[in-house]
Amino acid sequence: MHSTIGTRLVTLKASIQKLESKYHREPGSTHLLAVSKTKPVSDILEAIAHGQREFGESYLQEAIEKITSLSDKEIHWHFIGLIQKNKTRQIAEHFDWVHSVDRMIIADRLNAQRPTSLPPIQICIQVNIDNEATKSGVPMEQVQSLAKSVLNLPQVKLRGLMAIPQICSDTNELRKRFAQLRQQLEQLNHLGLNLDTLSMGMSGDLESAIAEGATIVRVGTAIFGKRTTK
Ligand SMILES: *Cc1c(COP(=O)(O)O)cnc(C)c1O
Repeated sequence: MHSTIGTRLVTLKASIQKLESKYHREPGSTHLLAVSKTKPVSDILEAIAHGQREFGESYLQEAIEKITSLSDKEIHWHFIGLIQKNKTRQIAEHFDWVHSVDRMIIADRLNAQRPTSLPPIQICIQVNIDNEATKSGVPMEQVQSLAKSVLNLPQVKLRGLMAIPQICSDTNELRKRFAQLRQQLEQLNHLGLNLDTLSMGMSGDLESAIAEGATIVRVGTAIFGKRTTK
């Protein structure tokens, strides 16, 4: 018997497979990050029981409690939230990935604070794809220079780009946004950067993101249900 979370995971993975095939993506090239922010450890355990291994969190204190209580599990943690400068040490010590790096000082600090006993922390640069004043992320024009600077940091491994486009019901418009992120990644690779990750797409815009080449989709609601707080 599947639990509710288990059933949703099975359904979601099937629809990701269908979308990969519909948009001529390589089967299995879209990885599922389960966004468990605000959800209890028991929910994460259910997802683990159904084979999920990658989890995303946005709120550091809450995340560290969960990571600590699940430390015996073979799972990977991705930080996807806003990064405060004075919180980088905890991120560097507890997470495998950070999707939301948007300035050099953060990359520098993660590099300096990453314990040498651990492999380099895997990062994405978050791009402010709509150039919204209120949103975090670097403007597109600054991605290249930030990416080049990050390359020199031994304890940080740049994997690619992340974006959260504005909510938009026009799928053509959404696809344009995601396409811009993909094109930016391609440009960086033409410069020899060798990046393999496009972190884009959430519960509401999965199809457009997969159509444009997402390699990590960050899905919360479609797995764990609606969030009641935050
Ligand atoms: C919360 C969150 C998600 C998941 O959103 P859903 O709509 O619940 O799938 C994905 N990415 C980021 C950065 C988030 O903060």
